[in-house]
Amino acid sequence: MDYEFYYVNDNAQANGDHEVHQKSCSWLELAPSKTYLGYYTNCMDAIAKAKTIYNQVDGCVYCCNPCHKS
Ligand SMILES: [Zn+2]
Repeated sequence: MDYEFYYVNDNAQANGDHEVHQKSCSWLELAPSKTYLGYYTNCMDAIAKAKTIYNQVDGCVYCCNPCHKS
């Protein structure tokens, strides 16, 4: 099993989404503030955790593509 560390961007995008990223994603480094979600084998679990923090979340198109909706 491959585990990845996941974070959610504390700053929402223009559409209100808080994006979820893997630790290694270069887009995460651009986030001024982020919240650690935990380590998971898939982005779906990370999204579920992020939804306990923010109502509107979405997976990053690059590092969480299977969870990217908008
Ligand atoms: Zn990302």
